[in-house]
Amino acid sequence: MLDMARPLLVNIAMLFSVLFIWNMVMPFTRSRSLSLKDKILYGVISSLMALLCMLFPLEKFGDTVFDLRVVPLILVTLYGGAVPGVICAVVISITRFSMGGEFAYVGVSLAIIAFVLAWGYRGLFERSIQKWNVILKVGSIFIITYISIILWLVKPSEPYFYPIYFLSFAIAYFFIFYLTEKLVIINLQLEETVYLEKLSVAGKMAASIAHEIRNPLTTVRGLLQFISTGAKDQQVKKYAPLMLDEIDRTNKIITDYLTLIKPTKLDHVEVHLNKVVSDTIELTSVLGVYHAVKISYEENGDFRILTNPQEMKQCLINLIKNSIEAIEKDGLIEISLQNGTKRNTVDIVIKDNGSGMSDEELKKIGLPFYTTKSKGTGLGTMITNRLIRNMNGKISYESTIGLGTTVTVTLPTLK
Ligand code: ADP
Ligand code: MG
Repeated sequence: MLDMARPLLVNIAMLFSVLFIWNMVMPFTRSRSLSLKDKILYGVISSLMALLCMLFPLEKFGDTVFDLRVVPLILVTLYGGAVPGVICAVVISITRFSMGGEFAYVGVSLAIIAFVLAWGYRGLFERSIQKWNVILKVGSIFIITYISIILWLVKPSEPYFYPIYFLSFAIAYFFIFYLTEKLVIINLQLEETVYLEKLSVAGKMAASIAHEIRNPLTTVRGLLQFISTGAKDQQVKKYAPLMLDEIDRTNKIITDYLTLIKPTKLDHVEVHLNKVVSDTIELTSVLGVYHAVKISYEENGDFRILTNPQEMKQCLINLIKNSIEAIEKDGLIEISLQNGTKRNTVDIVIKDNGSGMSDEELKKIGLPFYTTKSKGTGLGTMITNRLIRNMNGKISYESTIGLGTTVTVTLPTLK
């Protein structure tokens, strides 16, 4: 029994150490689609894990080889999808065939079963919030299949081998997913902290700039009013009101902005989200018409949330404006309200058929001063994100270049 413990530990130690190095090189995270290069790299790394396992099998009797190679295969297929999964499965199969023996086909079939199973559950895995449900389901289906095939085809040399092997397989499977999920969560928290830090620095900076601008502006306004009252000059008479209007507008923007980035929460009250959304659409539709963009609205249910209506409107205006600005022609923005995936949440979905964003651009969205527009400020999404956070909500982007962008804002509802 002890002679099995050593290779088992070696197998597990190798899986874990490669996993950690992998995470250091390409930190695991969610919600971003992997590029083809990343997928191939995922395939190569997981194949390496599988090969290392095969190099130190737990047991070899007759022509059989027992090790933990399918664990990285299932892992990479669930997290990375078909491309890395196929690479890993092919590497395992070729290696197993080249090792030869009458049971080579069993090894290969098991790799294929593991891949197909994980691939089948990949969609659900990506969508579900409770990843563990899927992880445990895939694990138990595979282990049961594995046990049935092996018991049927291969007689063990020692009676205690199978219970120990399958138990250690299950434990290794559980732990590698446990570690991966832990790493994903740590990375997400780290990203969040860095983002919040940037947000607060930018907020403070912008606030002080805005404040500095307001003082001279007030002086200019006062002087202008002084010059223009009772002025004889036709030009001054004609243009002074316009100038005053513009200064007032600038002042208003600054004031709005300062209230927005104030760290204190404005009063949150019970609000019918449907009404706020339809009001905002009405507001923005003027801009829509100007850009030849149609805005449709669909509500599926009545949703009450706790928020500040002004802030909620501001968020929606920022998002809808971005959609309008991303559209070049034949614009359509579809806005809908629907039940969120979690209980007692509502999703506000804003889908446009504009220019879309690449993965690189998606990573930058929401960073202070990130803009691709000549007259943009790069503050809109930052402010929106911040306000949505204040409402205990979440915002997520999905985008394809040339096809458009879908923004989903998820907010907690009142029961
Ligand atoms: P601004 O609108 O002033 O540029 P934002 O923070 O609102 O600043 O947006 C940042 C950038 O994100 C935009 O410049 C644009 O490139 C991109 N973006 C935001 N929303 C969309 C969208 N719906 N479609 C395409 N690109 C978008
Ligand atoms: Mg904007």
